[in-house]
Amino acid sequence: MKKKIPVGILGATGMVGQQYVRLLAGHPWFEVSYVAASPSSAGKKYKDALKNGWFFPECMPESVANLTVCDVADVKRAAKECAFVFSAFEMPDKDAIRAAEESYAAAGMPVFSNASAHRHTEDVPMLIPEINAQHLDIIPAQQKSRGWKRGFIVVKPNCSLQSYIAPIHALLQAGYEVKRVIVTTMQAVSGAGYPGVPSWDMIDNMVPYIGGEEEKTQFEPYKIWGAIEGSVIVPKEDIAISATCTRVPISDGHTASVSFEFGDKPRRPRSGVGVPTGASGKPTVKEIIKVWRSFAGEPQKLGLPMAPQQAIHYREEANRPQPRKDRDADKGMAVVVGRLRECPVLDYRFVGLSHNTVRGAAGGGILNAELAMKKGYIG
Ligand code: NAP
Repeated sequence: MKKKIPVGILGATGMVGQQYVRLLAGHPWFEVSYVAASPSSAGKKYKDALKNGWFFPECMPESVANLTVCDVADVKRAAKECAFVFSAFEMPDKDAIRAAEESYAAAGMPVFSNASAHRHTEDVPMLIPEINAQHLDIIPAQQKSRGWKRGFIVVKPNCSLQSYIAPIHALLQAGYEVKRVIVTTMQAVSGAGYPGVPSWDMIDNMVPYIGGEEEKTQFEPYKIWGAIEGSVIVPKEDIAISATCTRVPISDGHTASVSFEFGDKPRRPRSGVGVPTGASGKPTVKEIIKVWRSFAGEPQKLGLPMAPQQAIHYREEANRPQPRKDRDADKGMAVVVGRLRECPVLDYRFVGLSHNTVRGAAGGGILNAELAMKKGYIG
């Protein structure tokens, strides 16, 4: 690509916003030309607006450090300075986030959002591009019903899902039916933004509750597995999911301990998929690992810049995955899985891990934009 596309980051000063700035440095297609945050940051240079400084060991990209931070409410200015926006701003009122994102789309800008405000909106696709890239097809209907010409809204799911939904989806894609899933997440502190969870709650402790997280972890997969019917996405709710979400004293990387059960039929893969099944009718440990290692979706087929080369990495060691050692696998975009073994209650259990502010936030948002670009939705 000769000329890079100018892009904006809303909430650029926050935990996820800074991860966008870091990941977009040197991106082959996009360059950050616009940053916005709350009115208290507006008017300052980006480097001076970060209330608690730059989070990362790498230096802040020079090209962004001196950009003037604008107010998220200044949609007109954004429309002049960038082609589309990544949305990662926080407000106490979800309606206000929804309305702000819609005003960007109405002004002709595609919005790739990390916020939860539009995840339940029926005509807004919630993408994990390896799983439901086809949901982008709803964009023309979204634009038509809202009278938007070039703008649209795409969201990514909650960061708690990525570590378990890809391994389960890989089995569904290989033709196995999964009936029940029990998942316990151990979520990093960075998932709560900055300053996030009080230090008194995190030192020598873990917190067995994150407000609203279990509902998101249980519902959002249904929308991702849903189908477009007319101008809406109808969730597919045929897997029972029980989630317990906990906050643990880890900086980055959400881990999930997962047990799952196959359905009665079919316990065999679709013909042509090519993996045999064990004597019990359900796949063996070896067969499941083979399915995971060969799992690939649109991002891998299209060779998108942010895509992990291998969507699921399986680690054979008994004590992996671990957040510190595995969260950065494949640029922080891979899901790392290990400890697959039989479960005495359901059929199998495993441990999954993904980087919450990369795969689960900014990296996932960039991958969504790359997919939309490749599919011709960004002019
Ligand atoms: P954060 O660190 O608290 O950052 C919040 C951002 O929102 C800052 O840029 C802040 O700007 C801006 N903001 C606050 N009040 C505002 C207002 N009234 N108007 C406009 N901007 C305002 O939060 P975060 O962790 O980056 O999360 C951002 C979004 O991503 C949230 O919707 C969150 O749910 C979602 N998300 C987070 C993660 C994660 O792992 N952290 C993962 C997935 C999704 P100032 O600096 O000017 O205050």
